[in-house]
Amino acid sequence: MQDHRPDIACAVLDIDLGALVANWRRLCALHPSGPVAGVLKANAYGLGAPRVALALHRAGCRHFFVALLHEALAIRDLLPGSMLAVLNGLIPGSEAEYVAHDITPVLGTLHEIDAWAAMARTAGRGLDAILHIDTGMHRLGLSAADVAILRAEPERLAGIRPRFVMTHLVSSEVADDPLNTAQRDQFSAMRDGFSGARPSLANSSGVFLGEGWGSELARPGAALYGINPTPDQPNPMRAVVRLSARVLSVRDVPVGQGVGYNSTWRAGRPTRIATAGIGYADGLHRALSNRGKAFFDGRPLPLVGRVSMDLTTFDATDHPGVVPGTWLEIIGPNQSPDDLAALCGTNGYEVLTSLGHRFARVYHPA
Ligand SMILES: *Cc1c(COP(=O)(O)O)cnc(C)c1O
Repeated sequence: MQDHRPDIACAVLDIDLGALVANWRRLCALHPSGPVAGVLKANAYGLGAPRVALALHRAGCRHFFVALLHEALAIRDLLPGSMLAVLNGLIPGSEAEYVAHDITPVLGTLHEIDAWAAMARTAGRGLDAILHIDTGMHRLGLSAADVAILRAEPERLAGIRPRFVMTHLVSSEVADDPLNTAQRDQFSAMRDGFSGARPSLANSSGVFLGEGWGSELARPGAALYGINPTPDQPNPMRAVVRLSARVLSVRDVPVGQGVGYNSTWRAGRPTRIATAGIGYADGLHRALSNRGKAFFDGRPLPLVGRVSMDLTTFDATDHPGVVPGTWLEIIGPNQSPDDLAALCGTNGYEVLTSLGHRFARVYHPA
């Protein structure tokens, strides 16, 4: 990966690790009932898990989550003295790797619990785990029936040290959704009996539901990376990502001529088209065709024609300053990941996790 060659890049991703750390501190201040973890799954939402891990660890973060074991293995050595947990649970046969690398599984089925207890017997010592309880997402986590079985057969947990018991909120970004309180109440009933395991509820938006949620470990991802955790209100987080695309070529297109594949856009006036070196292979969603925009000097340029794999065309007629070699703002002060997402019917999470692998990435230290 040509991480450090903005001089030859067609698109540059700037990542402000200072803003990332400021966001983490902000979340810590809002969650006094316990530590705030960093969720680093999917390469830290596309920003680069190793750099994000180092910055958060240096700032004092000591709890981390990823989705997959291999994501954990890739950053384990960067996080001494920290809990590093795998949300997707235990893939059968991988138990010894968790033990060898001090990685904490999030256990969400009786089968996983049995496998982890067996591993503890083999290892001859207690093993940390996080227990996951399903309170409404219906994807992963122990059901009410599973919890009842564990209450009746507590010996199944022998050798397992549940450090936390967690659940995942379905609608936390909708603060007044009655599902939030329903999940909280169901969670406090279901986690009864796992004494010693501290409760973990809040994702990014969950932190903003306020105190009294009884969360003793927050698990934010999105808000760390600048996505708005309170979509109905101004974004309380600092922007972390900037994405700029180089203008490669500017040309005049006469009235009636088409631009891009299938000529889905035609010039209705004499038009200056600026072609930028970024495309859907870089995570600029093809659904932005004829509906996206970029910014130059704070003013928008409509995206015209199809987004192609490596190139995207913009109407620069009203921007005489746009010439080959200038840079267009794709994500930045004028267009957040959430804004870009709204233009193509997705969310900021998908915009960030789609970020491509061939940008020059410039990390600005904390
Ligand atoms: C992804 C994830 C999080 C982080 O969610 P954000 O909304 O990005 O803060 C927390 N908990 C679980 C179980 C997750 O899967």
